[in-house]
Amino acid sequence: MTVGVVGAGQLGRMLALAGYPLGLDFLFLDPAADAPAGQVAPLLNGAFTDRARLVELGRRCEVLTFDWENISVDALRSLQGRVRIAPPIPAFAAAQDRVSEKRLFEKLGIPTTRWRAVGSRSQLARAVREIGLPGVLKTRRMGYDGKGQTVVRTAADLDTAWVGLGSTPLLYEELVPFDCEVSIIGARRLGGEIAIYPLNGNVHAEGILRLTRAPYGPPRWQRQAAEYLERVLRHFRYTGILTIEFFVRSGRLLANEMAPRVHNSGHWTIEGAVTSQFENHLRAILNLPLGSTRPVGYSAMINLIGNMPVRADLLAQDGLHLHDYGKTPRPGRKLGHCTFVSPTAPGRDRRARRLLAALAPRVRIP
Ligand code: AMP
Repeated sequence: MTVGVVGAGQLGRMLALAGYPLGLDFLFLDPAADAPAGQVAPLLNGAFTDRARLVELGRRCEVLTFDWENISVDALRSLQGRVRIAPPIPAFAAAQDRVSEKRLFEKLGIPTTRWRAVGSRSQLARAVREIGLPGVLKTRRMGYDGKGQTVVRTAADLDTAWVGLGSTPLLYEELVPFDCEVSIIGARRLGGEIAIYPLNGNVHAEGILRLTRAPYGPPRWQRQAAEYLERVLRHFRYTGILTIEFFVRSGRLLANEMAPRVHNSGHWTIEGAVTSQFENHLRAILNLPLGSTRPVGYSAMINLIGNMPVRADLLAQDGLHLHDYGKTPRPGRKLGHCTFVSPTAPGRDRRARRLLAALAPRVRIP
Protein backbone atom coordinates (compact mmCIF):
# COMPACT_ATOMS: atom_id res chain seq x y z
CA MET A 1 0.00 0.00 0.00
CA THR A 2 1.50 3.34 -1.04
CA VAL A 3 1.14 6.55 0.93
CA GLY A 4 1.62 9.70 -1.17
CA VAL A 5 3.14 12.63 0.69
CA VAL A 6 3.15 16.24 -0.50
CA GLY A 7 6.39 17.71 0.86
CA ALA A 8 9.55 15.68 1.43
CA GLY A 9 11.10 17.48 4.38
CA GLN A 10 12.19 15.91 7.64
CA LEU A 11 8.59 15.32 8.72
CA GLY A 12 7.96 13.26 5.59
CA ARG A 13 11.21 11.40 6.10
CA MET A 14 10.21 10.44 9.65
CA LEU A 15 6.74 9.40 8.37
CA ALA A 16 8.38 7.01 5.91
CA LEU A 17 10.76 5.64 8.53
CA ALA A 18 7.76 4.97 10.81
CA GLY A 19 5.76 3.39 7.99
CA TYR A 20 8.25 0.83 6.69
CA PRO A 21 7.85 -1.56 9.67
CA LEU A 22 4.08 -1.52 8.98
CA GLY A 23 4.73 -2.72 5.42
CA LEU A 24 3.87 0.61 3.77
CA ASP A 25 5.47 2.18 0.70
CA PHE A 26 5.85 5.92 0.12
CA LEU A 27 5.98 8.33 -2.78
CA PHE A 28 6.87 11.99 -2.18
CA LEU A 29 6.41 15.22 -4.11
CA ASP A 30 8.80 18.11 -3.53
CA PRO A 31 10.39 20.92 -5.57
CA ALA A 32 13.83 20.16 -4.05
CA ALA A 33 15.57 17.16 -5.65
CA ASP A 34 17.70 16.69 -2.51
CA ALA A 35 14.79 16.90 -0.01
CA PRO A 36 15.32 14.79 3.18
CA ALA A 37 12.54 12.25 2.48
CA GLY A 38 13.88 11.70 -1.04
CA GLN A 39 16.92 10.09 0.56
CA VAL A 40 14.78 7.28 2.02
CA ALA A 41 11.88 6.96 -0.48
CA PRO A 42 11.04 7.64 -4.17
CA LEU A 43 10.52 11.33 -4.95
CA LEU A 44 8.59 13.07 -7.72
CA ASN A 45 10.33 16.33 -8.41
CA GLY A 46 7.90 19.22 -8.98
CA ALA A 47 6.23 22.29 -7.52
CA PHE A 48 3.44 21.85 -4.97
CA THR A 49 1.21 23.71 -7.43
CA ASP A 50 2.14 21.45 -10.38
CA ARG A 51 -1.27 19.92 -11.11
CA ALA A 52 0.09 17.21 -13.44
CA ARG A 53 2.53 16.08 -10.74
CA LEU A 54 -0.22 16.10 -8.07
CA VAL A 55 -2.48 14.02 -10.34
CA GLU A 56 0.37 11.56 -10.95
CA LEU A 57 1.00 11.34 -7.19
CA GLY A 58 -2.73 10.75 -6.57
CA ARG A 59 -2.85 8.04 -9.25
CA ARG A 60 0.08 6.15 -7.76
CA CYS A 61 -1.04 6.08 -4.11
CA GLU A 62 -3.95 4.90 -1.93
CA VAL A 63 -4.05 7.97 0.27
CA LEU A 64 -2.52 11.43 -0.01
CA THR A 65 -1.10 13.23 3.01
CA PHE A 66 1.28 16.12 3.76
CA ASP A 67 4.39 17.16 5.58
CA TRP A 68 3.79 20.81 4.70
CA GLU A 69 0.49 22.65 5.13
CA ASN A 70 0.94 25.58 2.79
CA ILE A 71 -0.18 23.77 -0.35
CA SER A 72 -2.76 25.24 -2.70
CA VAL A 73 -6.23 24.33 -1.49
CA ASP A 74 -7.54 24.78 -5.04
CA ALA A 75 -5.01 22.25 -6.36
CA LEU A 76 -6.10 19.81 -3.65
CA ARG A 77 -9.79 20.33 -4.38
CA SER A 78 -9.12 19.42 -8.01
CA LEU A 79 -7.85 16.02 -6.79
CA GLN A 80 -10.98 15.25 -4.78
CA GLY A 81 -12.72 12.10 -6.04
CA ARG A 82 -9.45 10.84 -7.57
CA VAL A 83 -7.67 9.96 -4.32
CA ARG A 84 -8.46 9.99 -0.61
CA ILE A 85 -6.96 13.10 1.02
CA ALA A 86 -6.13 13.16 4.74
CA PRO A 87 -6.23 15.35 6.82
CA PRO A 88 -9.39 16.99 5.38
CA ILE A 89 -8.97 19.97 3.05
CA PRO A 90 -11.05 22.40 5.20
CA ALA A 91 -8.54 21.93 8.04
CA PHE A 92 -5.78 23.04 5.66
CA ALA A 93 -7.79 26.03 4.54
CA ALA A 94 -8.26 27.12 8.19
CA ALA A 95 -4.63 26.56 9.18
CA GLN A 96 -3.18 28.37 6.15
CA ASP A 97 -4.69 31.73 7.03
CA ARG A 98 -4.12 33.20 10.49
CA VAL A 99 -7.46 35.06 10.31
CA SER A 100 -9.45 31.88 9.48
CA GLU A 101 -7.56 30.13 12.26
CA LYS A 102 -8.49 32.81 14.83
CA ARG A 103 -12.12 32.72 13.71
CA LEU A 104 -12.16 28.94 14.08
CA PHE A 105 -10.75 29.14 17.61
CA GLU A 106 -13.35 31.77 18.52
CA LYS A 107 -16.21 29.76 16.98
CA LEU A 108 -15.18 26.66 18.95
CA GLY A 109 -14.82 28.62 22.23
CA ILE A 110 -11.03 28.21 22.35
CA PRO A 111 -9.42 31.29 23.94
CA THR A 112 -6.91 33.04 21.66
CA THR A 113 -4.98 36.32 21.49
CA ARG A 114 -6.79 39.61 20.81
CA TRP A 115 -6.31 40.32 17.09
CA ARG A 116 -7.37 42.40 14.08
CA ALA A 117 -7.04 41.73 10.34
CA VAL A 118 -4.91 44.43 8.68
CA GLY A 119 -5.09 45.28 4.98
CA SER A 120 -3.83 48.87 4.90
CA ARG A 121 -1.63 51.31 6.81
CA SER A 122 -4.71 53.03 8.28
CA GLN A 123 -6.15 49.67 9.41
CA LEU A 124 -2.82 48.98 11.10
CA ALA A 125 -3.05 52.28 12.99
CA ARG A 126 -6.60 51.43 14.04
CA ALA A 127 -5.62 47.89 15.11
CA VAL A 128 -2.83 49.30 17.27
CA ARG A 129 -5.26 51.79 18.86
CA GLU A 130 -7.74 49.01 19.63
CA ILE A 131 -5.37 46.19 20.69
CA GLY A 132 -2.57 48.36 22.12
CA LEU A 133 1.21 48.08 22.23
CA PRO A 134 3.33 46.01 22.25
CA GLY A 135 1.97 43.72 19.56
CA VAL A 136 3.04 41.41 16.76
CA LEU A 137 2.37 42.03 13.08
CA LYS A 138 2.19 38.77 11.13
CA THR A 139 1.56 37.82 7.52
CA ARG A 140 -1.77 35.96 7.29
CA ARG A 141 -0.22 33.26 5.13
CA MET A 142 3.07 31.34 4.80
CA GLY A 143 4.40 32.19 8.25
CA TYR A 144 6.48 29.53 10.01
CA ASP A 145 9.50 29.33 12.31
CA GLY A 146 9.10 33.04 13.15
CA LYS A 147 9.21 34.08 9.46
CA GLY A 148 6.78 36.76 8.29
CA GLN A 149 6.33 38.44 11.66
CA THR A 150 7.69 41.44 13.50
CA VAL A 151 7.23 42.77 17.03
CA VAL A 152 5.86 46.31 17.28
CA ARG A 153 6.96 47.83 20.61
CA THR A 154 6.34 51.54 20.08
CA ALA A 155 4.43 53.73 17.61
CA ALA A 156 7.83 54.53 16.04
CA ASP A 157 8.16 50.85 14.95
CA LEU A 158 4.95 50.96 12.93
CA ASP A 159 6.35 52.38 9.69
CA THR A 160 9.25 49.93 9.60
CA ALA A 161 6.88 47.00 10.30
CA TRP A 162 4.52 48.18 7.57
CA VAL A 163 7.30 48.66 5.01
CA GLY A 164 8.67 45.18 5.85
CA LEU A 165 5.39 43.25 5.63
CA GLY A 166 2.70 45.57 4.27
CA SER A 167 2.63 44.21 0.72
CA THR A 168 0.60 41.15 1.89
CA PRO A 169 -2.57 40.71 4.01
CA LEU A 170 -1.65 40.88 7.71
CA LEU A 171 -2.87 40.24 11.23
CA TYR A 172 -1.99 42.35 14.25
CA GLU A 173 -2.25 40.77 17.72
CA GLU A 174 -1.24 41.51 21.27
CA LEU A 175 2.28 40.46 22.32
CA VAL A 176 1.49 37.95 25.06
CA PRO A 177 3.86 38.12 28.08
CA PHE A 178 3.52 34.38 28.43
CA ASP A 179 4.86 32.29 31.32
CA CYS A 180 5.58 29.41 28.94
CA GLU A 181 4.51 27.84 25.65
CA VAL A 182 2.90 24.41 25.31
CA SER A 183 1.48 22.32 22.49
CA ILE A 184 -0.86 19.38 22.30
CA ILE A 185 -0.79 16.68 19.63
CA GLY A 186 -3.46 14.09 18.94
CA ALA A 187 -4.84 11.80 16.27
CA ARG A 188 -8.37 11.01 15.12
CA ARG A 189 -9.42 8.34 12.65
CA LEU A 190 -12.63 7.71 10.73
CA GLY A 191 -15.34 6.58 13.10
CA GLY A 192 -14.14 8.98 15.77
CA GLU A 193 -11.42 7.18 17.74
CA ILE A 194 -9.12 9.81 19.27
CA ALA A 195 -5.69 9.44 20.92
CA ILE A 196 -3.95 12.39 22.57
CA TYR A 197 -0.33 12.70 23.69
CA PRO A 198 0.92 14.25 26.91
CA LEU A 199 1.40 18.03 26.77
CA ASN A 200 4.66 19.43 25.34
CA GLY A 201 6.50 22.32 27.01
CA ASN A 202 8.24 24.30 24.26
CA VAL A 203 11.08 26.84 24.30
CA HIS A 204 11.51 29.01 21.19
CA ALA A 205 14.27 31.44 20.29
CA GLU A 206 13.97 33.82 17.33
CA GLY A 207 10.64 32.14 16.53
CA ILE A 208 12.23 28.67 16.12
CA LEU A 209 11.56 25.74 18.44
CA ARG A 210 14.71 24.81 20.38
CA LEU A 211 13.58 22.50 23.17
CA THR A 212 10.50 20.37 23.92
CA ARG A 213 9.90 18.57 27.20
CA ALA A 214 7.06 16.09 27.65
CA PRO A 215 5.09 15.27 29.70
CA TYR A 216 4.97 18.89 30.89
CA GLY A 217 2.81 21.02 33.19
CA PRO A 218 -0.01 20.28 35.64
CA PRO A 219 -2.89 17.89 34.80
CA ARG A 220 -5.25 20.89 34.54
CA TRP A 221 -3.35 22.23 31.47
CA GLN A 222 -3.36 18.78 29.92
CA ARG A 223 -7.13 18.41 30.39
CA GLN A 224 -7.83 21.88 29.02
CA ALA A 225 -5.55 21.53 25.98
CA ALA A 226 -6.91 18.06 25.19
CA GLU A 227 -10.48 19.36 25.37
CA TYR A 228 -9.65 22.18 22.91
CA LEU A 229 -7.87 19.76 20.56
CA GLU A 230 -10.85 17.38 20.61
CA ARG A 231 -13.16 20.23 19.65
CA VAL A 232 -11.11 20.93 16.53
CA LEU A 233 -10.71 17.23 15.68
CA ARG A 234 -14.49 16.68 15.92
CA HIS A 235 -15.31 19.90 14.07
CA PHE A 236 -13.46 18.76 10.95
CA ARG A 237 -14.25 15.00 11.38
CA TYR A 238 -10.51 14.99 11.18
CA THR A 239 -8.27 12.09 10.15
CA GLY A 240 -4.58 12.18 11.02
CA ILE A 241 -2.46 14.08 13.52
CA LEU A 242 -3.36 17.64 14.52
CA THR A 243 -1.32 20.03 16.68
CA ILE A 244 -2.34 23.17 18.58
CA GLU A 245 0.21 25.55 20.13
CA PHE A 246 -0.70 27.67 23.16
CA PHE A 247 0.73 30.49 25.24
CA VAL A 248 0.25 29.95 29.00
CA ARG A 249 -0.39 33.13 30.96
CA SER A 250 -1.34 33.00 34.66
CA GLY A 251 -2.49 29.40 34.29
CA ARG A 252 -4.70 30.17 31.27
CA LEU A 253 -4.16 28.65 27.82
CA LEU A 254 -4.39 30.97 24.79
CA ALA A 255 -4.29 29.27 21.38
CA ASN A 256 -1.55 30.65 19.12
CA GLU A 257 -1.83 28.47 16.05
CA MET A 258 -2.63 24.99 14.78
CA ALA A 259 -0.89 22.67 12.33
CA PRO A 260 -2.79 19.93 10.44
CA ARG A 261 0.18 17.57 10.51
CA VAL A 262 2.84 15.91 12.60
CA HIS A 263 4.78 18.55 14.50
CA ASN A 264 8.31 19.36 15.61
CA SER A 265 7.15 19.42 19.26
CA GLY A 266 6.13 15.75 18.87
CA HIS A 267 9.49 14.36 17.74
CA TRP A 268 10.14 13.07 21.27
CA THR A 269 7.35 10.51 20.73
CA ILE A 270 9.69 8.41 18.53
CA GLU A 271 11.62 7.25 21.59
CA GLY A 272 9.47 8.67 24.40
CA ALA A 273 5.97 7.27 23.73
CA VAL A 274 4.62 3.78 23.10
CA THR A 275 3.59 4.85 19.56
CA SER A 276 5.19 7.77 17.73
CA GLN A 277 3.18 10.66 16.26
CA PHE A 278 4.41 9.53 12.82
CA GLU A 279 3.08 5.99 13.21
CA ASN A 280 -0.20 7.28 14.65
CA HIS A 281 -0.61 9.67 11.72
CA LEU A 282 -0.26 6.72 9.33
CA ARG A 283 -2.59 4.54 11.39
CA ALA A 284 -5.17 7.34 11.46
CA ILE A 285 -5.13 8.13 7.73
CA LEU A 286 -5.27 4.41 6.86
CA ASN A 287 -8.12 3.89 9.35
CA LEU A 288 -6.13 1.41 11.45
CA PRO A 289 -6.46 1.19 15.25
CA LEU A 290 -4.54 4.03 16.91
CA GLY A 291 -1.53 3.12 19.05
CA SER A 292 -1.05 4.03 22.71
CA THR A 293 0.18 7.60 23.29
CA ARG A 294 1.46 6.70 26.78
CA PRO A 295 4.87 8.19 27.59
CA VAL A 296 7.61 5.74 28.55
CA GLY A 297 9.38 8.31 30.75
CA TYR A 298 10.18 12.04 30.81
CA SER A 299 11.50 13.11 27.42
CA ALA A 300 13.43 16.08 26.12
CA MET A 301 14.02 16.90 22.45
CA ILE A 302 16.55 19.50 21.33
CA ASN A 303 16.59 20.81 17.76
CA LEU A 304 19.96 20.98 16.00
CA ILE A 305 19.89 24.26 14.11
CA GLY A 306 22.36 25.89 11.71
CA ASN A 307 25.22 23.44 12.08
CA MET A 308 25.46 19.79 13.10
CA PRO A 309 27.46 18.90 16.21
CA VAL A 310 30.05 16.15 15.86
CA ARG A 311 28.03 12.93 15.57
CA ALA A 312 30.39 10.89 17.80
CA ASP A 313 30.16 13.52 20.58
CA LEU A 314 26.38 13.17 20.73
CA LEU A 315 26.38 9.40 20.42
CA ALA A 316 28.91 9.10 23.26
CA GLN A 317 26.19 10.36 25.62
CA ASP A 318 24.19 7.66 27.38
CA GLY A 319 20.73 7.14 25.88
CA LEU A 320 20.91 10.13 23.52
CA HIS A 321 19.17 9.46 20.19
CA LEU A 322 20.32 11.40 17.13
CA HIS A 323 18.19 12.18 14.08
CA ASP A 324 20.16 13.72 11.21
CA TYR A 325 17.85 14.92 8.42
CA GLY A 326 20.58 14.86 5.75
CA LYS A 327 20.28 18.59 4.99
CA THR A 328 22.95 21.06 3.94
CA PRO A 329 23.81 23.34 6.89
CA ARG A 330 22.55 26.94 6.70
CA PRO A 331 22.06 29.51 9.50
CA GLY A 332 18.65 29.06 11.14
CA ARG A 333 17.94 25.78 9.32
CA LYS A 334 16.65 22.74 11.25
CA LEU A 335 19.22 20.03 10.46
CA GLY A 336 18.33 17.38 13.00
CA HIS A 337 17.28 16.76 16.57
CA CYS A 338 18.26 14.65 19.55
CA THR A 339 16.09 13.09 22.23
CA PHE A 340 16.64 11.42 25.58
CA VAL A 341 14.20 9.86 28.04
CA SER A 342 14.73 10.17 31.81
CA PRO A 343 13.03 8.27 34.63
CA THR A 344 12.06 11.53 36.46
CA ALA A 345 10.99 15.04 35.45
CA PRO A 346 13.65 16.84 37.59
CA GLY A 347 16.38 14.57 36.16
CA ARG A 348 15.13 15.27 32.63
CA ASP A 349 15.10 19.02 33.25
CA ARG A 350 18.64 19.08 34.68
CA ARG A 351 19.99 17.11 31.74
CA ALA A 352 18.08 19.24 29.23
CA ARG A 353 19.63 22.41 30.71
CA ARG A 354 23.15 20.97 30.46
CA LEU A 355 22.65 19.69 26.92
CA LEU A 356 21.04 22.89 25.68
CA ALA A 357 23.85 24.97 27.27
CA ALA A 358 26.35 22.90 25.27
CA LEU A 359 24.42 22.87 21.97
CA ALA A 360 22.80 26.33 21.98
CA PRO A 361 24.44 28.45 24.70
CA ARG A 362 22.37 31.56 23.93
CA VAL A 363 18.98 29.90 24.44
CA ARG A 364 17.48 30.33 27.91
CA ILE A 365 15.10 27.82 29.53
CA PRO A 366 12.51 29.81 31.53
P1 AMP B 1 4.18 31.57 15.32
O1 AMP B 1 4.77 31.44 13.96
O2 AMP B 1 2.94 32.40 15.36
O3 AMP B 1 3.99 30.23 16.00
O4 AMP B 1 5.27 32.33 16.21
C1 AMP B 1 6.53 31.74 16.54
C2 AMP B 1 6.91 32.09 17.97
O5 AMP B 1 6.99 33.53 18.12
C3 AMP B 1 5.90 31.65 19.02
O6 AMP B 1 6.06 30.30 19.38
C4 AMP B 1 6.25 32.61 20.16
O7 AMP B 1 7.44 32.22 20.81
C5 AMP B 1 6.51 33.91 19.41
N1 AMP B 1 5.22 34.66 19.26
C6 AMP B 1 4.41 34.66 18.18
N2 AMP B 1 3.30 35.42 18.40
C7 AMP B 1 3.41 35.90 19.65
C8 AMP B 1 2.57 36.73 20.47
N3 AMP B 1 1.42 37.23 20.02
N4 AMP B 1 3.00 37.01 21.72
C9 AMP B 1 4.18 36.51 22.18
N5 AMP B 1 5.01 35.74 21.46
C10 AMP B 1 4.64 35.41 20.21
